[in-house]
Amino acid sequence: MFDRVAIIGTGLIGASLALALKRHGLANHVVGCARTQETIDKALALGILDSGTTDIAAAVNNADFIMLAAPVGAFRDLAKAMAPHLKPGAIVSDAGSVKQAVIDTVAPELPAGVHFIPAHPIAGTEHSGPEAGFAELFEGRWCILTPPPESDPTAIEKVTQMWRGIGMQTEIMDAEHHDKVLAITSHLPHLIAYTIVGTATDLEAHTKSEVFKFAAGGFRDFTRIAASDPVMWRDVFLNNREAVLDMLGRFTEDLSALQKAIRNGDGKTLEDHFARTREIRRGVIDAKQA
Ligand code: NAP
Repeated sequence: MFDRVAIIGTGLIGASLALALKRHGLANHVVGCARTQETIDKALALGILDSGTTDIAAAVNNADFIMLAAPVGAFRDLAKAMAPHLKPGAIVSDAGSVKQAVIDTVAPELPAGVHFIPAHPIAGTEHSGPEAGFAELFEGRWCILTPPPESDPTAIEKVTQMWRGIGMQTEIMDAEHHDKVLAITSHLPHLIAYTIVGTATDLEAHTKSEVFKFAAGGFRDFTRIAASDPVMWRDVFLNNREAVLDMLGRFTEDLSALQKAIRNGDGKTLEDHFARTREIRRGVIDAKQA
């Protein structure tokens, strides 16, 4: 599908993509670019890349497909740095967890004749770095493409086929809508996990309670999510501010309603709510997204 693919950011997502592209025979040569030589050396030692560099100009030189897989906050500078070295007709995509802010920052930096087709593979773990990468990460998961209205249909099709070729299902969505959907399905759950783990840790320190000893009671699952990469998640919240604040407002109202039910001893409200959410879990399992 591609002769030379440049992956900018060779952490969990970039390394997994490199491995998947090679496994499915979709790229002749995969070059990786990271901020530090240490990361490139690790990725090369693990056999993830065909070549690696910290020089973005060298990485994108002659590449027909470029994937931005660094934290979203770095995208503008990366787009600026690579723009003069992109070959005409090249396709630039990204794996960023927010989409409208990425379109607003990256698209204006790219030269005419280069296609920009943003995407978000809804697949990940709480681990970071090239050593966290694995070829099966994307299999059976969804990838949302958010091409701006004027995008070239052939370029959209090529990016779609690339994600499908490594086992993903794809859907095209308006970027702003994507950001709202992900605010509730991904960003807010991470914020809640970061909050609850912080609260429990403070409690542990102040009261010497056995928070960690008895973590299996539900807290453990939050600690896994709250172990996610701090820089990546800082950038997600800074770049999807409006949608996250909107969802946080709704969440706070619903939390207050449950708080009131507990205070009033209103068991029916609690049980009805929990019965409804149990059904939602079944739906997630049925959709094979569990
Ligand atoms: P990660 O494991 O922390 O890896 C980030 C990579 O980006 C590292 O190789 C890092 O290089 C590189 N990098 C950082 N700043 C850079 C810069 N200025 N120039 C070049 N490279 C730079 O992150 P990740 O989890 O793969 O996430 C990457 C992207 O995918 C993010 O935009 C995130 O929103 C998105 N995403 C993540 C997930 C998830 O679950 N993790 C899921 C879907 C999408 P060094 O090691 O040398 O610093």
